[in-house]
Amino acid sequence: MRFVRYNGNQLGLLTDDGIVDLTDRLGLTSADPLIEYMSGEHNAEKFVDSDPDHSIDKVTLESPVRRPGKVIAAPLNYEAHIEEAIADKDITTDEWFSIKDKGYFLKAPSSVIGPSENIVIPFEDRRIDHEVELGFVMGEETKDADNETAWENIFGYTVLLDISVRGDQDRSNRKSYDTFTVVGPAIVTPDEIDDPQNLDLSLAVNDKARQEANTNDMVYTCADVVQYASIGATLQTGDIITTGTPEGVGPLVDGDSIEAEIESVGSLNVNVEERDVSFEDVNVQKHGQTN
Ligand code: MN
Repeated sequence: MRFVRYNGNQLGLLTDDGIVDLTDRLGLTSADPLIEYMSGEHNAEKFVDSDPDHSIDKVTLESPVRRPGKVIAAPLNYEAHIEEAIADKDITTDEWFSIKDKGYFLKAPSSVIGPSENIVIPFEDRRIDHEVELGFVMGEETKDADNETAWENIFGYTVLLDISVRGDQDRSNRKSYDTFTVVGPAIVTPDEIDDPQNLDLSLAVNDKARQEANTNDMVYTCADVVQYASIGATLQTGDIITTGTPEGVGPLVDGDSIEAEIESVGSLNVNVEERDVSFEDVNVQKHGQTN
């Protein structure tokens, strides 16, 4: 099944024919209907053949999870991207990270948007890059998981863009600006995917290919990341985990149009706009400073 959220917090099932609304059929009432769905005894299976209520082209697509408790992100997790990052000091500054050495990082839940919103570049004078990644949503509370439990507790997969300002700020700062985590168009349950570790993924900007890889090149699998992240920390239903980007990252500018696709998971289109704000001109006064 493919779950979408659209038109102001409606949960729906995306079928070959369109979107079947679930909010009314299942009586969902909470502010985060997919988390409500995953947390209860609901079953959308019986609606997979229902007549669609909407065409996917006619709705506003929101992030399937409205506000995850956490967004956990794997750092450099594809060999070729590690080499690319080491070679480009804009990307890595003075150290590089892998899960085993340095752990994961967190992105602010408030950075999450769906494909119908624009990515907003916060500063006109900083480098901001695209990163296409296989993301997924946890369906169960998970702590100190073994590998098998980690796979079992993944509710479904999605396309995720981890938008990043390059530079020296803390990683959680550079990756947490509003609109910097694009999720969608759907959360796709594992039964629709043969092997999450063998999926082509790609990203193009203005119809020019930038990133092309396969998830079998990941250093750590989806379940490895879950296992590591669940050591001593509870992963909650609705938490989003993203698995790192392959090589080919590059800068975004005002007016860019991004198309990102993952085999069997889906594709999303999102546009980029830029604010008229200069990072150089940002003036944050120190405590006690008067001008
Ligand atoms: Mn990333």
